[in-house]
Amino acid sequence: MKIGIIGGTGFYDLFNNMYEQIIKTEYGEVTIFHTLYKGKDVYFLPRHGKHHNTLAPYVNYRANMMALKELGIERILAFSAVGAINPDINVGSLCLLDQFFDFTTRVRSYGEFSVDITEPFCSELKDVYIRAAEQIGEPLKKDTKLICVDGPRYETKAEVEVFSNWGMDVVGMTNATEASLSRELGMCYAVVTLATNMAPGISNQKLSLKAHKEVSESKKEIVKTLMIKAIDLVYSKDSCRCHEAYERAALARK
Ligand SMILES: [Zn+2]
Repeated sequence: MKIGIIGGTGFYDLFNNMYEQIIKTEYGEVTIFHTLYKGKDVYFLPRHGKHHNTLAPYVNYRANMMALKELGIERILAFSAVGAINPDINVGSLCLLDQFFDFTTRVRSYGEFSVDITEPFCSELKDVYIRAAEQIGEPLKKDTKLICVDGPRYETKAEVEVFSNWGMDVVGMTNATEASLSRELGMCYAVVTLATNMAPGISNQKLSLKAHKEVSESKKEIVKTLMIKAIDLVYSKDSCRCHEAYERAALARK
């Protein structure tokens, strides 16, 4: 089976032998790293590009997700850094996304058809992440709500106050777009996030790239262990309905 992994830069050394591939799609070229792990084809897609230099609003999301589709990937395990809005979420803790509010203004659809996104993340992959976290003994907050913003700037205090009143737990810049496009392409998608800072106004701590990197670095091994455990536990799609709209649309096109 083929599994897609989407993350920042931290996963290049997830496995020893990862081979670079360029995938050409109608939306642009995408660099992906491939390896074979316990009989599974694993493809790592660095969402911000090979050199991690494409900021969230400028990522070519449609090319990224289409490249995974064209490789024949059915299931995607994603990982992201976020800011914590919910004061109960500590910096350095992991959360499993359950819902999102898409506050972005970017292109976020292939524009072919409408999809049911009542449950935006794959129920089976969420279970995989929950079991993986249990097995490695790492706490994972479930039922997390993400507000997805354009970036690249961080939020104002007033924005975070509103997001908090709306019941949002974390703020990020990428996952709603990836989840929507995955659903349009009929691929399963789930995300674990790492809170690398408190959102502006939630704590007195200043936002800094240095602090963000320090938190990411301190959790790097745990995150890698979690991802490898999740890859171990992933199975072929069974009862989830992530692919239904795409298959219906494909049938209608015939
Ligand atoms: Zn699914």
